[in-house]
Amino acid sequence: MSKDLTRDVFESQVPFDHGRIHAAAVYCSDGRFGEQFDDFMRHSLNLPRYDRLAIPGGAACMARHFSLYREADTVSAQLQFLIDVHGLQHVVLIAHQNCAFYSHRLNISSLQLESQQRDDISRAVERVQSLGTHLQVTAFFARKQRDNTVQFEPVPI
Ligand SMILES: [Zn+2]
Repeated sequence: MSKDLTRDVFESQVPFDHGRIHAAAVYCSDGRFGEQFDDFMRHSLNLPRYDRLAIPGGAACMARHFSLYREADTVSAQLQFLIDVHGLQHVVLIAHQNCAFYSHRLNISSLQLESQQRDDISRAVERVQSLGTHLQVTAFFARKQRDNTVQFEPVPI
């Protein structure tokens, strides 16, 4: 008989750390990239315990697509909360290769997908920056390699 996991208490052995890092990442919900996003934030940018805003398409909605204006308002409000209450100083936007949000929600062809994502992330950086002049906003593009590693390329702003 299988264990009823809904009734068991699980205790994480990862110790809780009260310190806030004053940074957030906005990236796509795609769970296949989740571990790599964490690895990048922790070990490349040295931002452990960063606040996460994981939404389909990541910061795509912040790039002034008319069809996404409601999502843009929602994400802006969520980021504003984190800026005000968690004292954000640094916001990292991460787009990823072959994002299904672009092909399915924005109907972008695979040929134009990456250039659209790069244009969008620049616009999204501007919009996030408008939430706080003190914010340091950076952007990266995550690309899967043939050996299944994932590389994070800085996107020039
Ligand atoms: Zn995606």
